[in-house]
Amino acid sequence: MSVAEERRTATSVLVIGTGAAGLRAAIELAEQGVQVLCVGKRRRDDAHTVLAAGGINAALGTMDPEDSWEQHAADTLREGYWLGDPVSIELLCREAPHAIDDLVRWGAQLAREEDGRLSQRFFGAHSWRRTCFAGDYTGREIQLTLGKRAAEVGVEIRDDVYVTRLLVHDGRISGAYGFDVDNGSRLLVVADAVVLAAGGHTRIWRRSSSRRDENTGDAMRLAAEAGCRLRDMELVQFHPTGMVFPEESSGTLVTEAVRGEGGVLRNAAGERFMERYDPERLELSARDRVALANYTEIIEGRGTERGGVLLDVSHLPRELILNRLPRMYRQFVDLAMLDITQTPMEVAPTAHYSMGGVRVDAASHATEVEGLYAVGECATGVHGANRLGGNSLAECLVFGRIVGAEAARWSRGLDVHVRDRTAIVFAREEVDELLARRGEEFARPLQRAVRDLMSECCGVVRSEGGLRKGLVRLAEVEDRARALDVRPDIAGYADLAHAFDLHGALLAARATLDCALERRETRGAHNRSDFPDLDPGSQVNLTWALDGMLEREPVSPAPAWISGRSLDADLGNPDRLLE
Ligand SMILES: Cc1cc2nc3c(=O)[nH]c(=O)nc-3n(C[C@H](O)[C@H](O)[C@H](O)COP(=O)(O)OP(=O)(O)OC[C@H]3O[C@@H](n4cnc5c(N)ncnc54)[C@H](O)[C@@H]3O)c2cc1C
Repeated sequence: MSVAEERRTATSVLVIGTGAAGLRAAIELAEQGVQVLCVGKRRRDDAHTVLAAGGINAALGTMDPEDSWEQHAADTLREGYWLGDPVSIELLCREAPHAIDDLVRWGAQLAREEDGRLSQRFFGAHSWRRTCFAGDYTGREIQLTLGKRAAEVGVEIRDDVYVTRLLVHDGRISGAYGFDVDNGSRLLVVADAVVLAAGGHTRIWRRSSSRRDENTGDAMRLAAEAGCRLRDMELVQFHPTGMVFPEESSGTLVTEAVRGEGGVLRNAAGERFMERYDPERLELSARDRVALANYTEIIEGRGTERGGVLLDVSHLPRELILNRLPRMYRQFVDLAMLDITQTPMEVAPTAHYSMGGVRVDAASHATEVEGLYAVGECATGVHGANRLGGNSLAECLVFGRIVGAEAARWSRGLDVHVRDRTAIVFAREEVDELLARRGEEFARPLQRAVRDLMSECCGVVRSEGGLRKGLVRLAEVEDRARALDVRPDIAGYADLAHAFDLHGALLAARATLDCALERRETRGAHNRSDFPDLDPGSQVNLTWALDGMLEREPVSPAPAWISGRSLDADLGNPDRLLE
């Protein structure tokens, strides 16, 4: 590759990711008058955020005036099985109403009651109705609103830019390297600060609510190779309700709003089985519990022939379904030729959300590399062992703004900026080397092999034997990946992107398996068949580094806002979590 084919650019802050988190950070930077470049490997209007359906949380109290940010925070901490960071949670819940204000000010069309109040719906395991929504197109509405606002404030955005490596010198960020997915031209961005907002790693399971080529663990690889540690990678949320058929749509999400609006779960015998698992909250129990219930019904033979359970809304008025769940109606007609107003949906757990990710400071979301921040689904800290539905979009907006302000502060305060030629050469040669490889393996089948092994060895329920088998199989795939054949063609450089996606998936899979092995207990989304109980001694976060080093970090103590809510007694007693 000649250096002439490499475009160089400089900016104060580079944001990697054009989903809700990245765009919100970029807007804050632009509003503060800081030069910002925002890049994404997909088109900006097609970032994963557009899939978000059911809603975004904020304790506005428009429907239930008793609600408060403290109760939102208590719900989040408690339902996360006390692994979330109280400082992050407090910020999330205090600031979420301001995030909604911003959205409304920028023109987001959120659902309203007849008198003009913002509507708020119930989401599983929340004490009050606090989920704002735009039908079941909430993510799309937010993405479009942020995109419009970013254009208004002059954020420079480039689509189809794949970032392959962060440039670091002496523990400090200096930019990033990547290529254009369409034409393969290289891009070297020199930046004072970098905001990593590149999503999670749930596409490394076979049944996943992510589309192809997204959530492949890129953010985790970029951060870990830059010198950051990852945290709680084993804590992956399996959403209880993913589509089961047709095969090519398997895993596609059936939003929690379906249950929020009154959808009922039944097994093949017609039994409303949630009465056995959580008689009080039934289908609106926490996600981890409903996912485990669905999994258990299926694995114990009470599921449908295709391996699902039934989710039924046919008892609800047709008009309500068409108004409140339009996407679900259309999704089942389009993909499965099924009218959900008449016929139950077949569903099963699907890998959905990375609760673990890049280890960040609880308040600023600064990583362990100076000038590098992580935000959105790629960061960790808020959700503990079980994310409450609707909290992720809120997290993207709240911490997107905070991280934008932090990166602006860092950039303004920087005295010296060192560009490390060695780091640049290394990044360039890494891409050159991949393009020159002529082995007998292709990225797609190897990605499939990773998904198979993660599904079979590290799914909803795990065990030591299965996880160890997963590590052996992973080592085989890692070996095969050394013989990759990467051939861009007339249609573009997607093959090179797949190769890097594969590297992200391999690293994320290893970190997940290692952490899952280390957490010898059942907590939230992490179910160990060989350790079925919650272990109070394991109320720790697990940090993982590229050299394989795993550490147990004690979680921060319960904060003041929790006192008086008699929640401390929940600690170590999962049954109390139901109250
Ligand atoms: C079907 C579905 C429904 C959901 N519903 C809800 C909901 O109702 N409420 C809720 O709160 N949450 C919901 N979620 C979760 C929520 O949508 C996500 O957690 C959130 O949108 C993540 O936003 P993000 O900005 O962190 O990342 P993303 O939106 O995933 O954006 C990642 C960005 O990084 C870019 N990128 C990735 N790798 C690279 C690379 N190597 N180089 C350059 N760019 C890169 C991508 O192109 C993209 O622009 C849902 C998720 C799914 C799948």
